[in-house]
Amino acid sequence: MICPTCKSQMIVVEHQKIELDYCPECHGVWFDSGELELLLDSLNLENRGQFVSNLLNAPEAKTPEKKRRCPICAQRMKKTAVGEKPGILIDVCRNSDGLWFDGGEVGQLVKQLSEKLSGKPSSHYQVEAFLGEVFQAQE
Ligand SMILES: [Zn+2]
Ligand SMILES: [Zn+2]
Repeated sequence: MICPTCKSQMIVVEHQKIELDYCPECHGVWFDSGELELLLDSLNLENRGQFVSNLLNAPEAKTPEKKRRCPICAQRMKKTAVGEKPGILIDVCRNSDGLWFDGGEVGQLVKQLSEKLSGKPSSHYQVEAFLGEVFQAQE
């Protein structure tokens, strides 16, 4: 798959049966919608299905940031602000193929959502540990 930000060839990263596409150049990450659910599943967060559908159906954010094309269907993705204000701007495929996070955004988001969804302080450490393992493996 080609990185929607810098057009580099992305690499597939597999961890605990979840596959992500990771760009070694700009450190962006692509999640297929199904993979995101699997990730949330593996963390036993509550309301994860709801979370994913909210994310996919969230309103478009107004931003001067450049629109990116979905690496799967090549259509322009919409920008959506997620998380606590001021929010993290992510790119979401309008056909629900998945989500694009710029380098560093995925960690911020997952940390926020795990705090919000579960209220259990331990789960965000699990998420961070997961992401740490995934991305450490690439260096
Ligand atoms: Zn890239
Ligand atoms: Zn798409």
